[in-house]
Amino acid sequence: MNLRTGIIIGFVAFNLQAQSAFEDFFTDQTMRVDYIHSGTAKTEAFSVDEIYIESVWAGSHKNLIDTLNLGKYLFEIYDVKTNQLIYSRGFCSIFGEWQTTDEAKNRRRAFSESIRFPNPKNKVKITLSSRDDNNIFMERWAIPVDPSKANIRRTNFYENINISKILDNGDPATKVDILILPDGYTKKEMKNFLKDAREMCDVLFATSPFKERKSDFNILAMELPSNASGIDNPRKEVYVDNALSCSFNSFESDRYILTWDNKTVCKAASAAPYDQLYILINSKKYGGGGIFNLYSTCIADNEWSGYIFVHEFGHAFAGLGDEYYTSDVAYDEFYNAGVEPWEPNVTALMDKKNVKWKALMDDETLVPTPWDKVVFDSTNRAHRKTTNQLKEKAAKDSAKAAHDQWRWDFLRAQEAWGTVGVFEGSGYSSEGLYRPYLDCRMFSRSLTGFDPVCLRAIEQMIDFYSE
Ligand SMILES: [Zn+2]
Repeated sequence: MNLRTGIIIGFVAFNLQAQSAFEDFFTDQTMRVDYIHSGTAKTEAFSVDEIYIESVWAGSHKNLIDTLNLGKYLFEIYDVKTNQLIYSRGFCSIFGEWQTTDEAKNRRRAFSESIRFPNPKNKVKITLSSRDDNNIFMERWAIPVDPSKANIRRTNFYENINISKILDNGDPATKVDILILPDGYTKKEMKNFLKDAREMCDVLFATSPFKERKSDFNILAMELPSNASGIDNPRKEVYVDNALSCSFNSFESDRYILTWDNKTVCKAASAAPYDQLYILINSKKYGGGGIFNLYSTCIADNEWSGYIFVHEFGHAFAGLGDEYYTSDVAYDEFYNAGVEPWEPNVTALMDKKNVKWKALMDDETLVPTPWDKVVFDSTNRAHRKTTNQLKEKAAKDSAKAAHDQWRWDFLRAQEAWGTVGVFEGSGYSSEGLYRPYLDCRMFSRSLTGFDPVCLRAIEQMIDFYSE
């Protein structure tokens, strides 16, 4: 047997093994467990809500165990008979973000959340872990689930709703399947929704690494109408009867769009196979959001829509962190001081010799890597002070555009431009957190590309889904 045949036989055997593992433990459907996640800034509790069996499982049949170690939470599925770990996934949640806001210090809140996994054939135990103060996963909750129980709901919701194929590359098991849901589009506006969804996907696939990996994606768009046009804008006292209850001003951040109505989102989405949910918002007002393995949101009708669409998908799909630190955010100590963040593109630089993206760095690059941060910061501060004093929108916009151009040129004129290094200022913090590159889609509000570390993280995630 020559080496080449050996590799091919080995590869086939490995695939068959993965296939049989899937078929031994799972049917081709999806199980969804809804639960309530409640607590305070420092405590958390979990309670089962409802369990569903949904449409076909869209995820990988091979990569059942999560090897990427991303997310604030991790759920694991164990086969009860053999006590074997048969599925796991990392994820983030609105509760997890809420815990870092001021409100969480003063009161309890409860959020509806869901986990989805291939429908088990036999009894399983589900465990849920969250990271402790040192970012180590600790088990917080364990429940048995018997899939043969009659009270598991099996209704096909939204059976007659129209679902359009925006991009069809075949078998969902070996593709990244994105389901786009509209919010704030009335029945009459569904044509606009499909047009907007196509435009946003064109922007995504014009951006690396999605451009090169387009054949690894499927995209569906569900024509779910809202009774009224637009979404809530609480700062202007605008309240709308929209299908998914998305709203601006989440956690008091004007541009942050989320929905608390997880049950309705999941119920609508259950009509189609998906790995990632994207909620497209019928609005001209700037805004969006993206939470790892939950969903992304983006407004469809703003000059910045293309930038936002891709940036938020970086959060929701690849677990990327924000690299910016000069804008207002709702979080109070989003990252624990002195603890290495789990995000692939943010580091607290606890071990200078072993930077987590070391493989992409040259040996001679200084750690941390020098750049003119003092000038950058003081110019940013001066710009904010002067634009805040401007009254007219047109004047504000033109000052912002001029400043954006200055930032773009300034970063590209740095000696370290084009170098993967360790640059101070990242993750909403001017000090103590570092980013891998001077500019990136996760750093600037601009159409710049993803930096090499983010590119690698996204590519790894595409591989994970498409194998
Ligand atoms: Zn972001």
